[in-house]
Amino acid sequence: MELLIESFKVLGIVFTVTSLRYIAFAGVAYLIFWVWKREKWKYKRIQIEYPEKKKLVDEFKWSMSTMVIFGLIGIGIHFAKKAGHTQIYANIGDFGWGYFLFSIVAMIVIHDTYFYFTHRMMHHKLLFKTMHKVHHNSTNPSPWAAFSFHPTEAVVEAMIVPLIVFIMPAHGLAILAFLIYMTFMNVLGHLGFELYPKGFTNHWLGKWNNTATHHNMHHKYYSSNFGLYFNFWDRMMGTNHERYTETFEEVKSREPERAKFVDKNLVGQLAGK
Ligand SMILES: [Zn+2]
Ligand SMILES: [Zn+2]
Repeated sequence: MELLIESFKVLGIVFTVTSLRYIAFAGVAYLIFWVWKREKWKYKRIQIEYPEKKKLVDEFKWSMSTMVIFGLIGIGIHFAKKAGHTQIYANIGDFGWGYFLFSIVAMIVIHDTYFYFTHRMMHHKLLFKTMHKVHHNSTNPSPWAAFSFHPTEAVVEAMIVPLIVFIMPAHGLAILAFLIYMTFMNVLGHLGFELYPKGFTNHWLGKWNNTATHHNMHHKYYSSNFGLYFNFWDRMMGTNHERYTETFEEVKSREPERAKFVDKNLVGQLAGK
């Protein structure tokens, strides 16, 4: 009975914290870009037209179900930690500040690799329908789509945390920093607006980072642009969309008065409907 109560407590805490983090990041992005500047900045959108409200409600519902899965995985980590099976440590001094900062970067790099390959795996025809189709119901995603996963995909996405705490020493605050960064970048990827400057995808350093345009094209075209934070694995594996840079530059080159014209051209094709 005590174990059950403890499990529910952990579930409640993880569900609440992850939900609030998601709602805070996606909510701010939504209020600024999708409500406040909705019409004024419309010409800047990656796909000019906004999706129907119903799509956004679905994205929110699936994202909230993902938070339940995160809570369940949290229970597993909690008991594994209690039994001494994880490498979670309590004092930053045990490994020093240098390692603390390094560990955050390492988590991001490990997650980027984990995400790319599990994502490609879920695009396999045997898995796509049951695992990943829900996320692709949004062909023109909003910030609310950041965690819009079928529960089976949510398990795969959540498993990055147990993976990390089993393979490397990780301080709770480093994990928290990593998860905040993950949520921020995830919302940015689904923003529907491109914030990076012109020429970013050709810049010697910029080109190694993913952009909102990159992930937006993944939602639209399915078979390219699988990466998360970095444009490393897509470059290595030759899976960047052939019109990625062209599309990025087109989005960034628009002027308000040209928006109508542009809508009928390249991005009109992207917008689909
Ligand atoms: Zn997505
Ligand atoms: Zn996908």
